[in-house]
Amino acid sequence: MSITIAGMTKRFDRTEVLRGIDLDVADGELVALLGPSGSGKTTLLKIIAGLEWPDAGRLSVAGQDWLQLAARDRRIGFVFQHYALFPHMSVRDNIAFGLTVRPRADRPAKAQIAARADELMAFLQIDHLADRFPAQLSGGQRQRVALGRALAIKPRVLLLDEPFGALDAAIRRDLRRWLRGVHEATGSTTIFVTHDQEEAFELADRVVVMGQGRIEQIGHADQIHDHPATPFVARFMGATV
Ligand code: ADP
Repeated sequence: MSITIAGMTKRFDRTEVLRGIDLDVADGELVALLGPSGSGKTTLLKIIAGLEWPDAGRLSVAGQDWLQLAARDRRIGFVFQHYALFPHMSVRDNIAFGLTVRPRADRPAKAQIAARADELMAFLQIDHLADRFPAQLSGGQRQRVALGRALAIKPRVLLLDEPFGALDAAIRRDLRRWLRGVHEATGSTTIFVTHDQEEAFELADRVVVMGQGRIEQIGHADQIHDHPATPFVARFMGATV
């Protein structure tokens, strides 16, 4: 599903967190929101998810006015920064959760929910972990479960907040390749937040560089590396290369 954001602003008390965001994401695209801490990346992601509300601006998904839809009708898959798995539920139940809480008219039968969970666990290569609980999993395994939970509802848009933030470098590299494969297999429009340049440039089709609530530049890795559009982008790229 394509996403169009225009003139979006958001403030928390006196802090302007988004200062006029215009962004188009194509159907099936994998986009990174890259920028330093506090630049507004997570807030933008949460507004798309329906977890925060903008002060002004438009947001449409596949031509539909998204702000008119309640969060549960948006069919968003959201992977939280620290996964937020349900500790008292098995891997299988965590993955099935999104389907079990759909409105009654839209809720699959129990057998179908179980089949979807099985299918996803096989796809994500975690079927051997089905009956374990989150505390019994490694960080990388939790990440896969969180992604499975997000994908269970066949989301129209997949959003990930610092998906690799809590993992060590070697696992991050593995998971990056793996997430790219998952993206190619599902074809869902995906936006992920990161402050890590390498991650953004390796994974994303296009990178959106944010600074202090504004989009400073949108482009491919080499465009942003070779032709930083603003002094902010030049500094940011230099600072963390
Ligand atoms: P990023 O994801 O780029 O680190 P965030 O969107 O999380 O940035 O935060 C942007 C700014 O908004 C920060 O200054 C942060 O402290 C502030 N902020 C985020 N959420 C809230 C909130 N619920 N209430 C007040 N301030 C917030």
